Amino acid sequence: MAHHIIIGGGPAGVAAAETIRATAGSEAQITLISNEPAYSRMVLPYYLANDIPERHVLTGDAAYFEQHGITSVSGQVKNIDTQARSVTLSDGSSRTFDTLLIATGSSAQRPPIAGVDQEGVYTFWTLEDAKQVMAKAQGTPRAVLIGAGFIGFIVLNAMAKLDWNLSVVETESQVLPRMLDATGAQAVEGWLTSQNVAVHTGAQVQSISREGEALSLSLSNGASLSADIVILATGIQPNLGFLDGSGIQVDDGIVVDDRMQTNIPGIYAAGDVAAGPDLLNGSSAVHAIQPTAVDHGRIAGANMAGQETHYPGSLLLNVLDVINLHCASFGQWRTDASESITTVWNPTRPIYRKYVWDGDRMVGALFVGPIDDVTMLNDVGMVKGLIQTQQALGNWADYVKENPTDVRRAYVATGTAQKLVGQTLLGAPATARAYRVDGKTPSAWQKGSHGPLIGSRPDALDTLPRTPTPGLDKGE
Ligand SMILES: Cc1cc2nc3c(=O)[nH]c(=O)nc-3n(C[C@H](O)[C@H](O)[C@H](O)COP(=O)(O)OP(=O)(O)OC[C@H]3O[C@@H](n4cnc5c(N)ncnc54)[C@H](O)[C@@H]3O)c2cc1C
Repeated sequence: MAHHIIIGGGPAGVAAAETIRATAGSEAQITLISNEPAYSRMVLPYYLANDIPERHVLTGDAAYFEQHGITSVSGQVKNIDTQARSVTLSDGSSRTFDTLLIATGSSAQRPPIAGVDQEGVYTFWTLEDAKQVMAKAQGTPRAVLIGAGFIGFIVLNAMAKLDWNLSVVETESQVLPRMLDATGAQAVEGWLTSQNVAVHTGAQVQSISREGEALSLSLSNGASLSADIVILATGIQPNLGFLDGSGIQVDDGIVVDDRMQTNIPGIYAAGDVAAGPDLLNGSSAVHAIQPTAVDHGRIAGANMAGQETHYPGSLLLNVLDVINLHCASFGQWRTDASESITTVWNPTRPIYRKYVWDGDRMVGALFVGPIDDVTMLNDVGMVKGLIQTQQALGNWADYVKENPTDVRRAYVATGTAQKLVGQTLLGAPATARAYRVDGKTPSAWQKGSHGPLIGSRPDALDTLPRTPTPGLDKGE
């Protein structure tokens, strides 16, 4: 029986273990080695905001792994011997494998700021970090977030829910520099100020010192901030150090092919630690987001279990709630070439959209708008579908360029939903995970009144009378 070892119990590792079991049936020995419990980091902000209890952070427990025949080992892998095909743990024990998955994720960076290593200054990357912050926070503390990126802002949102007094410091000239362009960021900064969050962009924290019970931060722009808690969100780095000398090829992350296999046959990598294929341009990229980690894990798991499966690539996407202002970015949004973009901008509300085009295909998009703008939220989903399917829109592209807030007609007319439904990663629809908290099973989805619409959608659409679209000759 083949022995599959997985290093890392995050979303990528757990998805891989489940996929191996589902693909190989009982004909597989699976060992999951991790130095933390199996959990999802992305729900830690909900835990901080008291929206969920700690046990809901976990994605598997001893009973779950036993039920799936997965041997769960708590430990740190120190070394991989690719010749002997074995891994060695920090306690000196070693195990041999037939296939190996490296899904060790990434770690938060601590910036080189004087005074950064003192009590009250925390990263927010692990369950342990979250517990420390929650233990420290009393009442409504003054908190300074250093780093205005995607992860930092998810934590900011949780802190805002708790009514903490908030300031943000960002080195770059705008907030969310890897998620929004300058116009989108301008909308977010104005919104944050209206929500009593102090925003300092283009400023560095030069030192953190203690003044009695409080912390004092000196900024490069001459300002100084007083805080009870400082959260560091200044970037992450993939956990690669233990691969030194292993012969496994590393670039920004571990280099993998479209089966998530490294340069060493039988050794795979997935998630934040892997530079996998990008959906839109086929290049290798570390996306460091959970949907990519889960996709990677499933593709790696299927291949490890002997089902040859190729990955079309992942779509870089970020969806964020900034204190009830929604922001989303998809794909290749980083262009200012006016011939290839469509924008909608209403600074007074604030509402901003940007679509990026390659001919009649949408390849990138940005959205900023109020959380209760249902039209925008629907459009976010449909635009993601247009980009993910790389649907050629024909003359509907011109229509969307002229009517950028009416995505729905183009989406329906081009059959994009149908194309999305047909897209599967492993050749079959994904099934629900069996892990349950407190033994509770979610009730099956009741299609209700949507049943006839969804069940018969393609045929029914063809027989529906066409809705004339003002100003557009569809050439039919
Ligand atoms: C606060 C927060 C909010 C986030 N929000 C979002 C979001 O809204 N959307 C989104 O898409 N993503 C979000 N993310 C990012 C997302 O959590 C990561 O992309 C995802 O966790 C990556 O999964 P992974 O399995 O690759 O790695 P990880 O989740 O990092 O898991 C890897 C595991 O391997 C363990 N490990 C590492 N080295 C070793 C070793 N040598 N031996 C044994 N074990 C080892 C690690 O300790 C860890 O437990 C968020 C992250 C954080 C921290």
